[in-house]
Amino acid sequence: MTAQILDGKHVAELTEAELAQRVEALKERSGGRTPVLATILVGDDPASATYVKMKGNACRRVGMESVAIELPASTKTNDLLREIEQLNAKPDVHGILLQHPVPSQIDERACFDMIALEKDVDGVTCLGFGRMAMGEPAYGCATPQGIMRLLAHYNIEIEGRHAVVVGRSPILGKPMAMMMLAANATVTICHSRTRDLETLVRQADVIVGAVGRPEFICADWIKDGAVVVDAGYHPGGVGDIELGPLADRVSAMTPVPGGVGPMTINTLIQQTVQSGERALV
Ligand code: NAP
Repeated sequence: MTAQILDGKHVAELTEAELAQRVEALKERSGGRTPVLATILVGDDPASATYVKMKGNACRRVGMESVAIELPASTKTNDLLREIEQLNAKPDVHGILLQHPVPSQIDERACFDMIALEKDVDGVTCLGFGRMAMGEPAYGCATPQGIMRLLAHYNIEIEGRHAVVVGRSPILGKPMAMMMLAANATVTICHSRTRDLETLVRQADVIVGAVGRPEFICADWIKDGAVVVDAGYHPGGVGDIELGPLADRVSAMTPVPGGVGPMTINTLIQQTVQSGERALV
């Protein structure tokens, strides 16, 4: 069996072409206005700075605007809360992205939750998570939502299958598990206290690696024919799953890079366009 490659870069490019048309149409209907994404970067972590830059570039590619707010590493929780409050109040800002992680003195959860629900295009608020988990409308958390979009694009069946999600972080593993559940998978969530991870991974029809450790999930734990989604990205171009030996054994897999990463940014942009459409027409 040769694995179908779940090509996130390709799907993101297709979606960008469609989004560019929607932004253009919105401009015509709203007297030249476009959706606007406000990005907030706190501190000078180079990886975070790169991600924020990539998000701004993606905005430009589809013809919409972004406003970049950069705050010093010494920023306090209250300063950041005030900044977000101001963005919430601006009618010409349609989405707010607070780049994770923020410096450790900041209460990141409080700041995420300050983002108004209608501007939570990265899907990071407790309210948005709760609504999504209950099947109510909300913007999905960008990485897991991007994964669901990627699986849907390639018509990967989820219903009735056993999805094993390794990782339970607020921005990835937890919302991923809820989205798989909403798609009628039977879901197992694994984490650092899970006993006998290997046995659980062996049961997976769909395995999602969201651990943050390079090639932590071994190829020989994964059964033949499984669908393999690797959210990780580490120096050297490897993910959280040992993908190399799987290409002729599993039914579908995300490449690293070019799988989940482009879908995350693309989902953020797509949801900002949706928010702009709701606000401007
Ligand atoms: P995180 O916040 O560090 O969470 C890692 C999760 O893995 C935690 O839930 C942790 O469990 C679990 N874990 C750690 N060691 C484990 C072990 N030995 N066995 C089983 N589970 C273990 O990381 P994250 O933000 O979710 O990111 C996960 C990965 O996705 C990283 O590689 C990151 O680079 C990548 N990522 C990619 C994108 C993208 O756009 N492509 C976006 C976000 C993240 P506990 O909860 O028990 O500590």
